[in-house]
Amino acid sequence: MSLPRVVVMTTGGTIASIKDPQTGAVRTAATPEDLLALVPDIDEIARVEARPKEAVNSWNMTPLMMLNLAHAAHRELSRADIQGVVITHGTDTVEETAYLAHLTVDSDKPVVFVAAMRNLSESGPDGPRNLRDAIRVAVDGRSMDLGAMLVVNETIHSARYVTKTHTVNPSTFASPHGGPIGEVTAIGVDYFGESGERPILTPTNVDGNVPIIKTFTGMDGSILRYFRESSVDGIVIEGSGAGNVPGDILPEISALVELGIPVILTTRCIGGPLAPIYGTGGASGGGHDLVEAGVSLASRLTAQKARIALLALLGAGHSTEAIRTWFSVA
Ligand code: ASP
Repeated sequence: MSLPRVVVMTTGGTIASIKDPQTGAVRTAATPEDLLALVPDIDEIARVEARPKEAVNSWNMTPLMMLNLAHAAHRELSRADIQGVVITHGTDTVEETAYLAHLTVDSDKPVVFVAAMRNLSESGPDGPRNLRDAIRVAVDGRSMDLGAMLVVNETIHSARYVTKTHTVNPSTFASPHGGPIGEVTAIGVDYFGESGERPILTPTNVDGNVPIIKTFTGMDGSILRYFRESSVDGIVIEGSGAGNVPGDILPEISALVELGIPVILTTRCIGGPLAPIYGTGGASGGGHDLVEAGVSLASRLTAQKARIALLALLGAGHSTEAIRTWFSVA
């Protein structure tokens, strides 16, 4: 029987980690071959080509490493004999790498990210099962045109919305806006949701200087002033509620906008859209005032995903005006 062919790229993280008995520290140690050997019936699902990539914990992933992974996935998917790409990754930042792939891999074939919460030295490690599930998703014909996904805990999430919500529980991932798009159980792969529009960006780099600033009650403009003076390329601000910030930082926000620096607003709320509701026509810091001041609302994007999008937009040479438009319809 001819089986579909899949490329599995491996990085680091819990899915590839063991506990060092001497130090008690958990570290990335498994090779791609070790990981695949833990999925005994793989030969009945797909023919797998393994590609070891940088074996770093995901908090050490850089935007450049993420872009390199996306480019590598794109190259593999342009081979006619490859049905899908699976990428093993740490859970901490997988949502960022997956979202960059979602925005940049121009292929109708799937890029399936997979991670784990229990390392290979623990009882009941979830990595081998998750890897098996991810390969099943990658070879399923219904996985076409969905962009990048994350498969963990028998659940399929679109890279667009998925986020890590719990520090240690295996059911840590959630998609606050609309829920997961499918599941992969003992019965099979099943889809019940869509991943939405996927405008493809073509960045040549993602090395913009784009910090994320979280607002807090009583905040003044000094942090934003520091970043304005250190020549940022863009700023993502995480405000509160439907998109509000302390009024005292509004003058600094206006100064950044006047310099032509994209200022993107997100919220610390887990769900819901941003909306320009509150304002005084002055300096209340309400969403209405912020939009008047030229801030872009990144509706339903977490701050970390808005930053990834902004890096990709800047790296693709988009103007501040085009960036504003992109966020208004994203
Ligand atoms: N806790 C992480 C994980 O689950 C470690 C990492 O992100 O590298 O993989």
